[in-house]
Amino acid sequence: MESTLRRTWAEINLDAIEYNYRKIREKIGPNVKFLGVVKADAYGHGSIQVSQLLEEIGADYLAVSSADEALELRVNGIKMPILILGHTPKEQVARLIEYNVTQAITCKAKADEYSAEAVKCGGKLKVHIKVDTGMSRLGYLCDNGYFDTGVKGIVEACNMPGLEAEGIFTHFAVSDELGEKNDKYTQHQFQLFTDVIDAVEKELGHKFEIRHCANTGAVARFPETYLDMVRPGLLLYGYGDFAKEMGLKPAMTMKTTVSTIKIYPAGTAISYGGIFVTDKTTRIGVLPYGYADGFLRCLSNKCSLYTKEGPAKLRGKICMDMCMIDITDMPTVDVGSEVEIFGEKNSIDELAAIADTIPYELTCAVSKRVPRVYYRNGEVIEKELMLRM
Ligand SMILES: *Cc1c(COP(=O)(O)O)cnc(C)c1O
Repeated sequence: MESTLRRTWAEINLDAIEYNYRKIREKIGPNVKFLGVVKADAYGHGSIQVSQLLEEIGADYLAVSSADEALELRVNGIKMPILILGHTPKEQVARLIEYNVTQAITCKAKADEYSAEAVKCGGKLKVHIKVDTGMSRLGYLCDNGYFDTGVKGIVEACNMPGLEAEGIFTHFAVSDELGEKNDKYTQHQFQLFTDVIDAVEKELGHKFEIRHCANTGAVARFPETYLDMVRPGLLLYGYGDFAKEMGLKPAMTMKTTVSTIKIYPAGTAISYGGIFVTDKTTRIGVLPYGYADGFLRCLSNKCSLYTKEGPAKLRGKICMDMCMIDITDMPTVDVGSEVEIFGEKNSIDELAAIADTIPYELTCAVSKRVPRVYYRNGEVIEKELMLRM
């Protein structure tokens, strides 16, 4: 069913994603594969639509965080390789094999389980070995005295029946943060990663087909880490300082409309808690956009949203379904006027900074009651309502 749309909606510019993809391709060169990270519904942009685009324009791999996310793509016709970065319960191994989904192997216990399950169902599970070089999350621990045991565990996993080790990867913890200390940390992670690969390949007597580690920060700043494939997320969607430096385009524009206008005398407290009190006659626009749509409540009274007459200050606490802006000196902003929450005019990076967070959190927070409107070649090609109708 199609949404009425005139409440609050997210415009997803697939042309911007294609543009960003091509710019990143130019940067990495012709011999490096491109994995597009589409976990968390493609950071809120819609994993099916983004994956269809990436498949069409020639990306090599996709990554998601779970088996459900991978199967969602397969069920919707995506044929290209998909890597699950996170944990999959062993009961799902047969389905991963059936749907030709690649699974990360992160430690001996998982390798044992996955191998046993694959053998049981008579198939081969394609896997990428995850190396923990300093992210201290998932992966074979290989740093600080664990090098030999790490290498041994990885070699073991590669030789297990039922597993086909197509790739090996690691994840950087501070590649997107500037400063010499951070650069050294990333360089150490990378050195350790390549040392582990060398040692494992020597033991195995053959090479991994796909070695990869470069996330957004490393794609932007450390070309030596590209190896066989890069793995950007945020950069593809066009947010953050590196995207700006590379001239990339933000893919999502969140919009809402003014639903009601009220004029209050001086001394009026606005919204829950009364944290904002008018100091003069004030014209307030009520927007149907609240924390249930993904507006972070910590932005209450702290940010501006963009009207046709420029930025309008947010007044008072953000509610579940609504918020209020000050349009006192904006006579042409009327009921029905569009307001940009973030996008080309109101930078998501600035909003994220005010909220003391990262743009990832803002796009991931866009909730399912916000319909997505997809643009391709400058035209609307799909309006997706995600409610259960
Ligand atoms: C999320 C994720 C990425 C992408 O990170 P960006 O900072 O968005 O580029 C890459 N690799 C792994 C393992 C991830 O979890």
